[in-house]
Amino acid sequence: MPTNLLPMAAQDLTWAVTPHESPRPEDELSTILEKPGFGEVFTDHLVDLCWSAAGGWHRPRVRPYAALSLDPAAAVLHYAQEIFEGLKAYRHADGSIWTFRPEMNARRMQRSAARLALPELPEAYFLDSLKQLIAVDGRWVPSAPETSLYLRPFMFAKEAFLGVRPAKKVEYVLIASPAGAYFTGGVAPVKIWVSTTFTRAGHGGMGAAKTGGNYASSLVAQQEAYDHGCAQVLFLDAQEGVYLEELGGMNVVLVTKDGRLLTPDSDSILEGITLDSVLTLARDRGLTVEQRRVSLAEWKDGVASGDIVEAFACGTAAVITPIGELLWEGGSLPIPTPEDSVAMSLREELTGIQYGRVEDRHGWMTRLDG
Ligand SMILES: *Cc1c(COP(=O)(O)O)cnc(C)c1O
Repeated sequence: MPTNLLPMAAQDLTWAVTPHESPRPEDELSTILEKPGFGEVFTDHLVDLCWSAAGGWHRPRVRPYAALSLDPAAAVLHYAQEIFEGLKAYRHADGSIWTFRPEMNARRMQRSAARLALPELPEAYFLDSLKQLIAVDGRWVPSAPETSLYLRPFMFAKEAFLGVRPAKKVEYVLIASPAGAYFTGGVAPVKIWVSTTFTRAGHGGMGAAKTGGNYASSLVAQQEAYDHGCAQVLFLDAQEGVYLEELGGMNVVLVTKDGRLLTPDSDSILEGITLDSVLTLARDRGLTVEQRRVSLAEWKDGVASGDIVEAFACGTAAVITPIGELLWEGGSLPIPTPEDSVAMSLREELTGIQYGRVEDRHGWMTRLDG
């Protein structure tokens, strides 16, 4: 095959590495890693890659973390042509650094790109960017239980142009931030606010893409959730307001008495990698998975009759979070949280794989260092 016909992913990138002149001193870093919080402190470097309609992907760089320089007319600031991903780097007991199913994030980012009329980043470039960042900032991966380095790849329209069309200049950037255990003091069931006023995404919209716009539209409902003492908002379908969709940033699963896992099927839900993994582990255990339309009424009736014995939310940040109560305008429903919780047992298995304590029988882990 002539070289110019090779798929882009087959071409090697040579990253220009500019090391930080004054990286975070060791003593400061260890203070940060003792109590990382989430998304507030960033590592010493970032990775970026440019794309232009004329030149394709070019200028791969690893450079000191710094503010981006953007033209005030950059299309992303006006029309929100932006997508992102979220995954974690885990430190195993022997010190090695791993990530979980990164090819799934790479492919999802390509699907998000297609929906937002952005260029698709080749899978190999995506994976390479993660390895490049870990090569310079590996010391930022914490080692305490349930901690990680959160990796945030994103891509945005940077062309300075106020006309409305897909941008001809785009930038891909990877930043990283140490993340503490999501639940300190044990996993606790959360209260969920069911929004009957706002929806997240509709048929033919951007719901299945990981894009900032979906989060922008969820914030007012999220605020409503906080105002009612809830941790997260649950959205219903936009057409009838009857069927479960997902939380602002997590997928939802119900567990039945006879060992079935019910999760909504809809073209406006984001396809979670945690969800896919949890469903796979559940099938491995002989549990039945039903991915179909699930109404809020089915949930309420199931709790009343004792058929639905458990519910949980799942996503990269918190892995699996049991749902302890549903609240909505004018009502509430306590959700049972059983002793021998399927959610908690799946959580233990999944985090076991991610942290290298449980055999990775599906080949989900990718080593990022060395
Ligand atoms: C990222 C995200 C999820 C969870 O996906 P994971 O791949 O499991 O992290 C669920 N819903 C929305 C809206 C998301 O953005």
